[in-house]
Amino acid sequence: MVSRTTDDYRDMVTAGCQAVCEPAFWAGFDRSSAAGFHDYFCQLTDYEPKRAAKFGLPHFCWLCINPKESEDVALATDVIALIPKFLDRANVLGIGEIGLNKNSRNEMKVLEMHVDLAARTGQMILVHTPHLEDKLKGTRLIMDVLKADSRVRPERCIIDHVEEHTVKEVLDRGFWAGMTLYPESKCTAARAADIVEIYGAERIWMNSACDWGVSVPLAVPYAALEMRRRGHSAEAIDRLIYQNPVRFLSQSGKFTLG
Ligand SMILES: [Zn+2]
Repeated sequence: MVSRTTDDYRDMVTAGCQAVCEPAFWAGFDRSSAAGFHDYFCQLTDYEPKRAAKFGLPHFCWLCINPKESEDVALATDVIALIPKFLDRANVLGIGEIGLNKNSRNEMKVLEMHVDLAARTGQMILVHTPHLEDKLKGTRLIMDVLKADSRVRPERCIIDHVEEHTVKEVLDRGFWAGMTLYPESKCTAARAADIVEIYGAERIWMNSACDWGVSVPLAVPYAALEMRRRGHSAEAIDRLIYQNPVRFLSQSGKFTLG
């Protein structure tokens, strides 16, 4: 939401959205210092919730240095050291979106540092998986890191950006699966509906890609419309796009809908 306008808040509230959960992400450019992330974390935990509140929308966030900026391990170390003092803030749900972008050795190191931080502070985890040809390998590498740490409970982790070839393994290993909706590329509303029809709706939910590039904040309501068109019941749609996220997020203890 830090890259969106107030029109988007107004549209989401009009469409029936009940809350916004914003991951720390790549802002469209690489930040040059830990101080840049400090300001960003202040924005996510202080300014943005106030902006959302003006539209009656509860705002929550996840904190981390995202995989796309994780190649510089020294910078990542400094940024991760900043996070603990923000974890007590009222709208922080956990650590995310962490994971891999190019599946590099340095990204793996930074992922392990984040998982350790989440484990020793009891935080939930939101995972970004790589796109396109790196996705399957990256998703497996990430799940192996999470499974190798006995302090991490899979039911408190969501593996995001799943697609047809990764969703089953994610669910089989006990994690939640997030389908991130994009207007054209990657997972569209039609593909998300296909996935639900094949794999069911237990521990799955949908979220909208919503950032500095071409993306649609109303992607989830649009996908609900696609499911209605295909004959899914109102109850089934509500379970997928509302009850499931509430069930997962409520594990944080901070997630409330006012
Ligand atoms: Zn992501």
